[in-house]
Amino acid sequence: MAEGSEAGTMRSGRTLNHLVPGRDCGDCVACCEVLRIVDPEVGKPAGIMCRHNTGTGCGIHATRPDICRRWFCLWRRIDALPDEARPDRCGVIFCLEGEESHPNPFARFCVVARPVAGTRALRSPLVKQAVAMFARQGMLPVWTHRHGVRTLVYPPPDLADAIQRPGTTPFRGLVPAALAWRRRQGAAWPGE
Ligand code: SF4
Ligand code: SF4
Repeated sequence: MAEGSEAGTMRSGRTLNHLVPGRDCGDCVACCEVLRIVDPEVGKPAGIMCRHNTGTGCGIHATRPDICRRWFCLWRRIDALPDEARPDRCGVIFCLEGEESHPNPFARFCVVARPVAGTRALRSPLVKQAVAMFARQGMLPVWTHRHGVRTLVYPPPDLADAIQRPGTTPFRGLVPAALAWRRRQGAAWPGE
């Protein structure tokens, strides 16, 4: 996997608008099943295929709601993710997620790796490489999702501690990196 610049631009908003030229969903319908959708027309819980899905695409494509028109997984948005990382091929959807008011600062804007059919896919070399790429970029927290439980993969526990309590953390050597992280994130952190 080539590490490109796209993962590093997620915070700037470019990724939110960027789509990889020439890349389309093909027969992938992973997001129509894996994700919870909050919408009066197509709302559904996570893990249940949307009733409008034909198995290879959207049965109401021309009239699908805005929420479906606007949402794309990171495979559609980040050039550095290879073709084999299409969610139905690699078994994992990489999503940009978050809510500004989330009590956990690491969940306010983050990458979440969500398995499509089984959590085993999270252990594949390709998926591990993709997770490592996001972590190396160091721009956003990275989580994996297993059986309804999210695990913070990046930042690792020592750096996460330094970020959350730079004044008292035992990991003093990580405090400069922790403060740099805080500045990059621009979010309100405990103690500020
Ligand atoms: S998971 Fe990604 S590639 Fe698959 S259908 Fe959704 S947006 Fe397209
Ligand atoms: S309406 Fe279409 S695009 Fe939206 S979740 Fe259902 S099948 Fe997928």
